[in-house]
Amino acid sequence: MQKKPDKQSGIHSKQQTENLSKTEANNQEKHLRKISRARTRLLVCFLTLPVYIGALWILLNNGRGVETFMLVYMVLWAGFAVDMSMRRCPACEQQFYVKSILLNLISRDCVHCGLATIPTNNDSDSKKF
Ligand SMILES: [Zn+2]
Repeated sequence: MQKKPDKQSGIHSKQQTENLSKTEANNQEKHLRKISRARTRLLVCFLTLPVYIGALWILLNNGRGVETFMLVYMVLWAGFAVDMSMRRCPACEQQFYVKSILLNLISRDCVHCGLATIPTNNDSDSKKF
C-alpha cells in the first residue's frame, strides 16, 4: 500500500504524522510485550526448579542416568537467560534487564530508564505518579 503525496497537504500530512506516531507506539508496545514475555519464560523456568530437583531425585533413586535430563534443563535455562539479557529497551537502547552483570528478574521496568513493560492505561495508576 503506497500513498501518493496529497495535494491538500496541510491537514493530510498532519494525519499521516499522527498515524505514524501511532504505529511507532504500537511497535514499542509489541517490543515491550516481547521483553515481558522473555522475563515470564525465565520466571516460569525458575518456578519449575523444585519440580526439576524432585524429578532429579527420583531419577537418581531409581539409579538412572540424569546427564541428558540435566543438560536439557541447563540449556533451556541458559537459552532463556541469554534471550532475556539480550532484550534491549526501545527508549534508551540499553539492555533492559541487565545492569552491570546481574540480570534483574524482579524488575518489570527498564533498569536504566524505568520504562515499564506494561503500559499504565489505568487512570488511578497515573494519578499516583
Ligand atoms: Zn530503558
